[in-house]
Amino acid sequence: MQRARNFNPGPAALPLAVLEKVQAELLDFAGTGMSILEVSHRSKDYEAVHNAAQSLMRELAGIPEEYTILFLGGGASLQFSMVPMNLLGPGGSADYIITGAWSQKAFKEAKLVGAPRIAASTEQDGKFTRIPTQQELDLDPKARYVHITSNNTIFGTQWHQFPETASVPLVADMSSDFFWRPFDVKRFGLIYGGAQKNLGPAGVTVVIIRKDLLESCREDIPIILRYKTHAKDNSLYNTPPVFAIYILKLVLEWIKERGGLAAMEKENRAKAERIYGVIDAYPEFYRAPVEKQSRSFMNAVFRLPSEALEAKFLEEAKAQRFVGLKGHRSVGGIRVSMYNYVERSWIEELASFMEAFAKANA
Ligand SMILES: *Cc1c(COP(=O)(O)O)cnc(C)c1O
Repeated sequence: MQRARNFNPGPAALPLAVLEKVQAELLDFAGTGMSILEVSHRSKDYEAVHNAAQSLMRELAGIPEEYTILFLGGGASLQFSMVPMNLLGPGGSADYIITGAWSQKAFKEAKLVGAPRIAASTEQDGKFTRIPTQQELDLDPKARYVHITSNNTIFGTQWHQFPETASVPLVADMSSDFFWRPFDVKRFGLIYGGAQKNLGPAGVTVVIIRKDLLESCREDIPIILRYKTHAKDNSLYNTPPVFAIYILKLVLEWIKERGGLAAMEKENRAKAERIYGVIDAYPEFYRAPVEKQSRSFMNAVFRLPSEALEAKFLEEAKAQRFVGLKGHRSVGGIRVSMYNYVERSWIEELASFMEAFAKANA
């Protein structure tokens, strides 16, 4: 078997060592004579996995005790509505900073619950090519929270400095750059993300919420949709996504073995620099629509001189086992997703391929 060089935007590549471990333990988990897929979520054996995943997250990201970590289902998309449901009353206001399709979706859900405002939007002709500056933000000091998308998976932009929101809690959708580097959790009131891009497998959504914010959450909404319900039962109110949490735990152990988030950042920076380096070396051939200071370290988006050349690029790439490079259908072009577990060697091989392709087709 030859593994693909996997640049899928999500679900995305996982470490081979983790997949092998899953395979090795699949039929007999922790000496139970059963698969992890077959044991109760209330069993001691599973509970150890559940709690280890939480404490590894705490350790790796330095998440202080005043924050609760939840493992939920429903993807980041459910959080688009759970956040306003829990934090906004009818007519309650929150500020949304719109930097791409995912923030637009989050805003749409908030409008169904309360009265959110747009504090800034960088949309131009239906496209987003940058992150706004602090000066551009029209923040309401009475807002319940400020919502951002930390990395715009589709348009390839990323917040490199989080906005200052004074005493208003900052809420971030970190689905596509969760744990890409060390970050200061204390800057946030709430962080959420589906695991399947930069963190782990699909199926589990991680929510990190500050306890004072948790205490202030509404209780007049469906029980299953309350953060308080899940916090009170340590995310075991109902059956959690057991298998996804188990793999998440293995992935977190893998990150720890490799040197933690500082090591992730070093790798991720080197990978992005290599790809953007090729783009910048062939400015007549590779066109990056995103402003340099807003470039994403996770998703590099670029165009070629024609759609025909883009099709040829994808075809030749596929023949060489490079997969997942087609840009999102709303943007077109090419997208290189280079999350935590995309190997440096794949990036090196892709960069060489890009150089050769530019030379052959310029
Ligand atoms: C993929 C993605 C989502 C949607 O995640 P689901 O888990 O499919 O709901 C939301 N936000 C961002 C930034 C994403 O990249």
